[in-house]
Amino acid sequence: MSNALMSTYARLPVTFEKGDGCWLWDTEGKRYMDAISGIAVCNLGHAHPAIATALCEQAHKLVHTSNIYGIANQQALGEQLTALAGMDRAFFCNSGAEANEAAIKLARLYGHGKGIDTPTIIVMEQSFHGRTLATLSATGNRKVQAGFEPLVKGFLRAPYNDLAALETIAKHNPEVVAILVEPVQGEGGVRVPEENYLAQLRALCDKHGWLLMLDEIQTGMGRTGKPFAFQHSDIQPDVMTLAKGLGNGVPIGACLARGAAAELFKPGNHGSTFGGNPLACAAALAVLDTMAHNRLHERAEELGLRLLTGLELALGEQDYVEDIRGLGLMIGIELDRPCGELVGMALARGLLINVTANNTVRLLPPLVMSDDEAEQLLHTLTDLIADFIAQGK
Ligand SMILES: *Cc1c(COP(=O)(O)O)cnc(C)c1O
Repeated sequence: MSNALMSTYARLPVTFEKGDGCWLWDTEGKRYMDAISGIAVCNLGHAHPAIATALCEQAHKLVHTSNIYGIANQQALGEQLTALAGMDRAFFCNSGAEANEAAIKLARLYGHGKGIDTPTIIVMEQSFHGRTLATLSATGNRKVQAGFEPLVKGFLRAPYNDLAALETIAKHNPEVVAILVEPVQGEGGVRVPEENYLAQLRALCDKHGWLLMLDEIQTGMGRTGKPFAFQHSDIQPDVMTLAKGLGNGVPIGACLARGAAAELFKPGNHGSTFGGNPLACAAALAVLDTMAHNRLHERAEELGLRLLTGLELALGEQDYVEDIRGLGLMIGIELDRPCGELVGMALARGLLINVTANNTVRLLPPLVMSDDEAEQLLHTLTDLIADFIAQGK
């Protein structure tokens, strides 16, 4: 690979040229099944005609003006997203990390408004919130932070899926103003909390006057079987962040807020040059329209169950499989050993998967995957894992 690029990524030796639905073709013409969707981004698959058309039409009209003017697409997207999520207001930016930055800034404004000089946000172990200084400080992974100290202050860490730990923190830390948490941890190894976890967090936040801030950057946009993962529970967050699937590959992020949290930003508090520009919003509007029209979140639920059941049948009894878990089309297969090598082996067989937390195969297939394609995925993957184990890896 070229020396002209900084070595931020350990790239696989493949370059893709075009895509169609769940499929990608490399520069040699070899075809691959994409079971990772550019890490939960291309939920509608590659080269979706509705997105391509929306982008082309908008590009011929207007790509960018500025947030110093009205932007019709941004207005429309704000209205549709807040209605779908039961939230009041939206702020648009260009990535997940930026959406979380907005959430963190909201929490701090909220705290100062209550007279708390050092507002503190509870964040979780094994969480991932991004690579900017504030979001890497919020992230519960030392590898993401190492070398970038001093970290941003104002975060307190707690174990995931552990309400008692939060109650203890509440007793001793009057400066806490918010909890920032993923409804299902993605980068941390596809960790699905207990069913009533979010409801318990909601109750705890209500009791102490904290903001419940959900990082739905990976879980949102239909991925887990509902438009947003919190909709599996009977609750509303105060703040929710989105990015990944929102533009199906066109960079766009959003921070949605409700109630008091939606009124905190005033002109001059926050902003973004590109955030919510006409082109990015045209893509997101097409995503929302396609998702609703084809009930894609329901498809995610159905296909997710199908894949989980198939994986359970094929691998559940194997002693090298520690756990098979997931919600909708966010699926993890935890093995009893490091399995990063599986990614390269899968690539050689024309399958794109990912391994997180060192020992967990992660699947994030496009929501448009067909039943036949899902069968093919199951087949290739179970053969692959069996071969990997047989080789004594
Ligand atoms: C990917 C991700 C982010 C960061 O998004 P970027 O667009 O890479 O900045 C933050 N939180 C979660 C849960 C993510 O999965």
